[in-house]
Amino acid sequence: MRVYSFPQGGIQFRDPAVPQKTASAVAFLPGLSVIPLVQHSGARAAPVVAIGDYVREGMLIGRGQGPGSANIHATVPGKVIKTVSWQMSDGRTNEGLVIRLEGSFEILGKREEFSPWENLRPREIQRLLAEYGIVEMEGPGNPLGDMFVREDSTGESISLVVRCVFDDPWLAADYVLCRERFRVVCEGAVITARAAGAERIIVAVSYRERDLGRRLLEDIETYGIPVSLVMVGDRYPQRNRRELELALRSYGKKEGLAIAALLILGPATLAAVHDAVKLKRPILDRYVAVGGQAVRTPQVLKVRIGTRIGDLFEECGGFVEKPRRIATGSPIRGREVLDLDEPVIKTCSAVFALLDGPGGGETTRACISCGECRIVCPVGLDPEYLYKRTAETASGGGGRAAECHGCGCCDLVCPSRLPLSSVIVNSEQGGRHD
Ligand code: SF4
Ligand code: SF4
Repeated sequence: MRVYSFPQGGIQFRDPAVPQKTASAVAFLPGLSVIPLVQHSGARAAPVVAIGDYVREGMLIGRGQGPGSANIHATVPGKVIKTVSWQMSDGRTNEGLVIRLEGSFEILGKREEFSPWENLRPREIQRLLAEYGIVEMEGPGNPLGDMFVREDSTGESISLVVRCVFDDPWLAADYVLCRERFRVVCEGAVITARAAGAERIIVAVSYRERDLGRRLLEDIETYGIPVSLVMVGDRYPQRNRRELELALRSYGKKEGLAIAALLILGPATLAAVHDAVKLKRPILDRYVAVGGQAVRTPQVLKVRIGTRIGDLFEECGGFVEKPRRIATGSPIRGREVLDLDEPVIKTCSAVFALLDGPGGGETTRACISCGECRIVCPVGLDPEYLYKRTAETASGGGGRAAECHGCGCCDLVCPSRLPLSSVIVNSEQGGRHD
């Protein structure tokens, strides 16, 4: 078995405080749901319902406003009782519609009715994805339609990459989703390939999960689309776009396969595509890994969008002691949660509460020039140098800072706990792209 990876740096990231990857539990439905109008990379969706209106489960309540924006739907039936707004950690203001649960569910607990999609043209599938507000269920939440256009504009043949790369234990929700909704992920990949005009599907799987990879390959093959399985490494940040592309291009070279434009999507997004096209439903819920040392019983929960993050911690037995840091994503590259009333959104794959450890808010010390950050940087940068230059000049760390993609490997190994990646990324020329 040949394993493809990126040539330098990276880390083996382990964390005992993540939930078990065995199965999910269904979270309680909230009595009050807060449905944010920003759950995507672009502008806030414009509300199409008013306070006092009754809404149905899955009903459109906010309409996307141009590129980067996406439609928003009610995830529970009930009455819109008020609007709330709050500051997000990236400085943007979000606004949400508060729905008090009332009435009956039209989707939850009902038998699933499948719509045939095999004869749909790409444009018809794209229209369904836009109608149901399907975005990439991670990162900033790019609408899929925008991603298709971006890859299409390259003029090259597109390969859809099914990204089942588990280089971070905080991807537990994706892992459980793959197990529990396996066929949905496979069919979602085939539907997505049709919508994007992809000529090939590449299943990229961490080599430790080769059995999952083989099953994905065999299932997708039954749809008659060209598909390949590529085993990749599991050193973080293997899943990152740059590092994954390096691995896939070296696979293409070895196999004599022309790998041009890559549309890279994870299992949660592919399952959402399936649900929009085959079940005609928006994103109502998602798998969320809940854990961290401060949480009594970490677990993967299946959660309705709009549920309070605080409720998820309570459902996991509450805190063993007051956490020092609460965030979503992964401790390496998380986004701070400023208020436990913040709701779960489409892109929220994990929430964690830390007592200490990486990013745990400890005080920093001066650099001891140990060189660890240089060893782990996958881009071959000198984070110590870039950090010091940026801190000294406040004007960017020099030409190579722009190559930093903010993976956070340097932060994780720095014994002085210096915030290297955030300083470099936020410097004049730095950038974050994954
Ligand atoms: S890892 Fe931290 S302490 Fe070591 S050289 Fe890099 S910045 Fe300095
Ligand atoms: S955050 Fe930037 S500087 Fe640090 S390891 Fe990653 S790419 Fe290198």
